[in-house]
Amino acid sequence: MVSGKLNNDIMENTKKKFSFHIFLFATFPFLLLFQENINEIHLQDIFLPIFFSIGIIFIPWIILRKFIGSDKSALILSFLIIILMLFAYVRSSLWKINWATGEIDAHFLAQNIILIPIFIPIVILGIIFISRKKITSKVTTTMNVVGFVILLSIISQIGIFYLEHNASVDEVKSYFDIEIPIINENQKPNIYVIILDSYPGELRLNDFYNYDNSEYYQQLRERGFYLQTSTFSNYAHTEYSVPSMLNLNYLDSIIKEKKFQNLLLMKDLSTDSIVADIFRENGYKLFSYGVNDYTYLKDGKNLCKEKSILNDAILNTFYSTYVPINSIRNFLIINDSNRADEILCTIDSLKNFNSKVDEPFFIYAHIMFPHRPYIFDSSGNVIDEITENDKIKFAFLDQVKFANKFSIEIIDSIQNKDPNSVIILTADHSDRIELGDNEIKNYIASMNVMTALSFPGKNPPIQEKITNVNLFRILFNTYFDTEFEILENRIFWYDPHNPYERYEHENIIEKLKEFL
Ligand SMILES: [Zn+2]
Repeated sequence: MVSGKLNNDIMENTKKKFSFHIFLFATFPFLLLFQENINEIHLQDIFLPIFFSIGIIFIPWIILRKFIGSDKSALILSFLIIILMLFAYVRSSLWKINWATGEIDAHFLAQNIILIPIFIPIVILGIIFISRKKITSKVTTTMNVVGFVILLSIISQIGIFYLEHNASVDEVKSYFDIEIPIINENQKPNIYVIILDSYPGELRLNDFYNYDNSEYYQQLRERGFYLQTSTFSNYAHTEYSVPSMLNLNYLDSIIKEKKFQNLLLMKDLSTDSIVADIFRENGYKLFSYGVNDYTYLKDGKNLCKEKSILNDAILNTFYSTYVPINSIRNFLIINDSNRADEILCTIDSLKNFNSKVDEPFFIYAHIMFPHRPYIFDSSGNVIDEITENDKIKFAFLDQVKFANKFSIEIIDSIQNKDPNSVIILTADHSDRIELGDNEIKNYIASMNVMTALSFPGKNPPIQEKITNVNLFRILFNTYFDTEFEILENRIFWYDPHNPYERYEHENIIEKLKEFL
């Protein structure tokens, strides 16, 4: 930020201007990206990238100014930043255009082979023009003012967003009105909650995959699990399913209000949940295997993956927006290439987990599996990623089989070590592969899941049907003597174009009644 005083000094000093516009323009590529993705990226995650981009532009400026002077070099660099943003904007706009007539192929126009020959002459002519021109203080002032006005406009729009969406996690939690129970020492088993992301229920496996999973169900029952082979997640996506589950509540009443319509809030509700509060307040140590904002716990120790200082999502958005050449972009993008290692690490760590402390622990193992990428065969060998549309269905089923295999291994090792530990195994939603065109098919493809509970020393839950919103209510009622009300099982459909709009289709829910 340029201080008001510095700005005034510059405005008043008409003789010699400092070209601070170069540093303003250096912030725009990240600031604009941030503004575009404001409900997915935390404000604090933008500071480091902006600091870096100012640093990166500082180096060529220092070098160039030795040859052509400070103002000219600043002007050339600001010009290049504008061109970079313009190029990115044109390219992505052409990609987004869907000309129904099909007469003009917009994607063809978005290719480098078309765009680069248009932009290169502009760059060269621009640089020659600036080099030959005498840069008067008027030009510098104009650029400074333009930069400053753009900066102010971006900042004020960001400010407006935060004013309109000023809801905090604590506000939502107080809205949910859950009293944190305090329990006595001898009621504290170690607790493992294993979420297999996208793991389908029996209905889906039978209907769509034509796969009989009963051998796995039998293995779970033999290990003392109370099993619901076909139940439903309350939501079709991680973004709502996880915060709802970890806060013991549906989110619909809150996301109707504009100030709560913010995915960042859903992320914060996942990492900083009521469930985590309850465990923490009762002296539990928290552990997670998080790889993104929906899968780790803020107050816990994250195993297998360190949280990176630079936010992966914002760097990836930056690369895909501003790096036009495919090979370089693919090289830079932080992708799933180490996903296999993360999954293998999680499996291994869960099998050999030793908390090394006396306190009881709560492990939240949300494993991004059998969710894509398709990189394991059914025995757990790492394979070349399968991306072909016609092979995905089979590749996914192979990953389900591997999930069966390793989950039994994990359960065996937990039960050998610590027979009293509680184990919950479920999914946050189903696979959503080849979503059908009739609605009931969509529901099953998106939300049919399995839930398995091992509650040693306790009777199986009396509830006929369990959906994720009630999972922790049932757990706490069983072990912590709480009396949380068991909520009615509800499932919500969504509008992909407006994720905050939720629907309950009575006619479909009626057909799925036997599972709810
Ligand atoms: Zn998920």
